[in-house]
Amino acid sequence: MIAVGPDRIAEAQARIAGRVRRTPLAPSPSLSARAGAPVLLKLESHQATGSFKLRGATNAVLSLSQEARQRGLVTASTGNHGRALAHAAKAEGVRAVICMSALVPANKVEAVRALGAEVRIVGRSQDDAQEEVERLVREAGLTAVPPFDHAEVIAGQGTIGLEIAEARPDAELVLVPLSGGGLAAGTAMAVKSRLPRARVIGVSMERGAAMHESLRAGRPVLVEEMETLADSLGGGIGLENRYTFAMCRDLLDEIVLLSEEEIAGGIRHAFTAEGEIVEGAGAVGIAALLAGKVEVKGPTVVVVSGRNIDEALHGSIVNAAAGEAVSPGGYTP
Ligand SMILES: *Cc1c(COP(=O)(O)O)cnc(C)c1O
Repeated sequence: MIAVGPDRIAEAQARIAGRVRRTPLAPSPSLSARAGAPVLLKLESHQATGSFKLRGATNAVLSLSQEARQRGLVTASTGNHGRALAHAAKAEGVRAVICMSALVPANKVEAVRALGAEVRIVGRSQDDAQEEVERLVREAGLTAVPPFDHAEVIAGQGTIGLEIAEARPDAELVLVPLSGGGLAAGTAMAVKSRLPRARVIGVSMERGAAMHESLRAGRPVLVEEMETLADSLGGGIGLENRYTFAMCRDLLDEIVLLSEEEIAGGIRHAFTAEGEIVEGAGAVGIAALLAGKVEVKGPTVVVVSGRNIDEALHGSIVNAAAGEAVSPGGYTP
């Protein structure tokens, strides 16, 4: 059974057209020169709300029944999904409650509040936040829109893959940031349905790579959540995972893991060489190329997934000399 196939992604593309941006696919001369093949950046960092998550959230909201919209929506989020859902819900005049753990950076919390959503801070992990979501579903009749393990969310993220295949039918490799796997599953399904010979590689951080650990174990497993520059890639995949685990297992050709220094290098390169402000999670594809951790043979597309990074942290990273350590929480003096 294919829960999210090419047709569902094409439906999502028609449904969300005009509500999300068709983001630029920008050639990178510096990365192309290093790789010896054309490298293009799919700049989801230019999406409204600053990340691709608006695609999945918008598709999920537009797919709801009228009754469900009237009761309101709830989700747990490390920030970007909450922000996207708040934006999508507001556009449709729907109430949204966003539950987050205390580890979520302050800039992301404020961004959600500014969009008019209710924020609830609960516990210190994604799992604690998720328990609160389930309580609100049971006791207040809200509808949960989870960040990745949801068919309409995956289909919405998959529209990135359709845009890539439409713009570059010669693409041979696509690099996708990987956490819960909604982005990677949807993008890989769309890319491979149109370009069967293209490879798709997921990129995660070494510190708490939940999908990687789960695929190695052959089933979803719990992974300790740690601070990382790629904070949007933190959190588990859910022990009751329904879609993304199987899709990532079947569709991803490889997973690459990065150190914190390598991720910092990606953020720095995005700013100094490409003129782009990119958060840690958004920079992992660039970082994987810079680290020489993927084999590039032909036209390569790097999904740059988001731009929502604390300004002071960003400044400390781009101003640090290459190789100098930058810790996720603090700033290098
Ligand atoms: C959520 C997110 C990811 C990871 O997406 P998944 O679908 O959870 O794998 C990557 N980058 C950014 C900026 C994100 O917000």
